[in-house]
Amino acid sequence: MSPSLLLTLAFGAALLAGLGTRYWLATRQVRHVARHREAVPPAFAATVSLAAHQKAADYTLAKARLDLGETAFGAAVLLGWTLLGGLDTLNQALLEALGPGLWQQLALVGAFAVIGGALDLPFSLYRTFVIEERFGFNKMNLRLWLADLAKGTVLGAAIGLPIVALILWLMGAAGPVWWLWAWGTWMAFNLLLLVIYPTFIAPWFNKFQPLQDPQLAERVTALMKRCGFAAKGLFVMDGSRRSAHANAYFTGFGAAKRVVFYDTLLARLSPGEVDAVLAHELGHFRHRHIIQRIVGLFAFSGLGFALLGWLSTQVWFYTGLGVGPSLAGANDALALLLFMLVVPVFTFFISPLLATWSRRHEFQADAFAVAQTNGRDLGSALLKLYEDNASTLTPDPVFVAFYYSHPPAGERLARLGLEKAA
Ligand SMILES: [Zn+2]
Repeated sequence: MSPSLLLTLAFGAALLAGLGTRYWLATRQVRHVARHREAVPPAFAATVSLAAHQKAADYTLAKARLDLGETAFGAAVLLGWTLLGGLDTLNQALLEALGPGLWQQLALVGAFAVIGGALDLPFSLYRTFVIEERFGFNKMNLRLWLADLAKGTVLGAAIGLPIVALILWLMGAAGPVWWLWAWGTWMAFNLLLLVIYPTFIAPWFNKFQPLQDPQLAERVTALMKRCGFAAKGLFVMDGSRRSAHANAYFTGFGAAKRVVFYDTLLARLSPGEVDAVLAHELGHFRHRHIIQRIVGLFAFSGLGFALLGWLSTQVWFYTGLGVGPSLAGANDALALLLFMLVVPVFTFFISPLLATWSRRHEFQADAFAVAQTNGRDLGSALLKLYEDNASTLTPDPVFVAFYYSHPPAGERLARLGLEKAA
């Protein structure tokens, strides 16, 4: 069997296995949630109303159904790009129009991004204006949604095109170890994004104001001092402009770190609860989760670039995925796009490992928050957040193991030893 046919078969098999697994998991989740819809779990009987429980169930079901539709559509688009010849056709058309060279390759990546983005739009619209709207979470109108889309596109082009151009240039000019240079460039670019995101990018989409409430500021500053943290500032973000979902996060690096509270979070939680949520975030820093995640991501991308460095020189890599490489000119943009399309089909199967890793971090951060603040506050804050986000209390355990980056409420409160008391 030729390597080309072998790749086609492996790709097809992985795609089918992935679709089957996703479908099976979604079916489990839908059945499990629907079966427990009629009654609040006993542990939450005193704290969660039946109406809130059923809203969470209905929201979970609606999202699971949309995910399934999106998954099926995504697989069809992926086949369209690869084995059915979409990418090949686009490449040939651009070669005819522009001739070979860096501009043609950049145009190929750009055209691919625009078409892919356009195909995603109906799902994004449906999610925001049908599902989020129906459950009362959406605060956006079409105008704001369109403005976000325009800003995102401009930003994507302004940041994305130069980095893609640089990587394509390295692929052509840096010899067989181009992938090492490209990897270094990619890491530097990501670190730069982390630094400029809070001060230059985020304010384009949201307003950030210094935390006004002096009592809360004092409390939060005392907590940070107690935990040995310095931050450049405490900010409130107008998250309510877009959504009723609540959150808090850290952003930035080193001394430029800042704490950002969503206004929706401050409106909902008591000062003690805000403290507990912040302590949880500090726990992620204290346990070095952020650094571990970045190092893990860099190691992973290093493997990816090395693999791409090898694959891009193999003719079967192109022909096995439905693309005819140019034997005379450069195929770097083709290689890059094929790689980005096909790798997730295979890495899907390690998602349970990553999710387990992430859930373990959440438990560690919770334990840190309990040690620094008050378990009771953390418990009631978590319960409010789960309820406000309409997260189901009764997810399917296998679905959780595969996908959940955060443990379900029941498990988290049980770990705090508060399940009964909450
Ligand atoms: Zn966390």
